[in-house]
Amino acid sequence: NEEGGVGNEPGNEAANAANNDVGNEVDSRDPDDDVGRRVMERIQWPVQDLKKGCKWTSALMKNFATYFQRVLADSFYPVLHPAIGVGSAFEGWSPREQDVVYQVLIPMTPPRGHSFHLELETTGQTHMRNASIRVQQECTCMKKQQGNKMLCFLHHSKEELKTYQDPSLLHTLCKDSYPDVEKTARWFCQLVRAIWPALPQAHNWHLVLLPSRRSCQFKVSNGVESYRIELLFGVREGTSDVFVSSQPRHGHTSSTTWPESF
Ligand SMILES: [Zn+2]
Repeated sequence: NEEGGVGNEPGNEAANAANNDVGNEVDSRDPDDDVGRRVMERIQWPVQDLKKGCKWTSALMKNFATYFQRVLADSFYPVLHPAIGVGSAFEGWSPREQDVVYQVLIPMTPPRGHSFHLELETTGQTHMRNASIRVQQECTCMKKQQGNKMLCFLHHSKEELKTYQDPSLLHTLCKDSYPDVEKTARWFCQLVRAIWPALPQAHNWHLVLLPSRRSCQFKVSNGVESYRIELLFGVREGTSDVFVSSQPRHGHTSSTTWPESF
């Protein structure tokens, strides 16, 4: 499990690109922190601290979810569902305090007029498979008769669509016809940065986005406490409990590859 490492490689070109996208708000570690860090590493962190962090993260994600819904209601970006706590912190353990990353998975479903088709491949070495998610536009002409105002992506002219309707998901977060994990990660960071000032947490906490290629990672602190939170995003495989997600596999994972993760 190396997703935590992605954001920690300042030499990583892609990470730097993401970093530029989110401005200059990048965490720079003070070398004087080292002594403190070594002390912290020896402390066995009690479970209630993790519980507190998980609770705080869940409350934050609930607030974000309200705004995700509001902001995305009329768009053709993926529909975002309530976050699910994943990873060791939400299982109640962590190797040491320094490494605690509160990871959540945000399930996505296709927006109106679109459908997702998972194309799974077996990698051979493990039971875990990789998926590509093919996005297809769907006819919404029938729905229009039922009072839906959107134009049909398939049966209205390009001119009408361009003038009266926001772009299709195919033209925002996709590469060819497949959602691009890195574009989606940058989109999440933009959403988080735009919504943050409206949240009650913003009164007492400061948010810093951290570079991450395949997720949206940030640190919040209030001068006394701080939490590192990572938003992963994924698509459910049919009606199963399995998700293909943005979480990277060891080695190189291409930007349109979504490994089976949870
Ligand atoms: Zn149609």
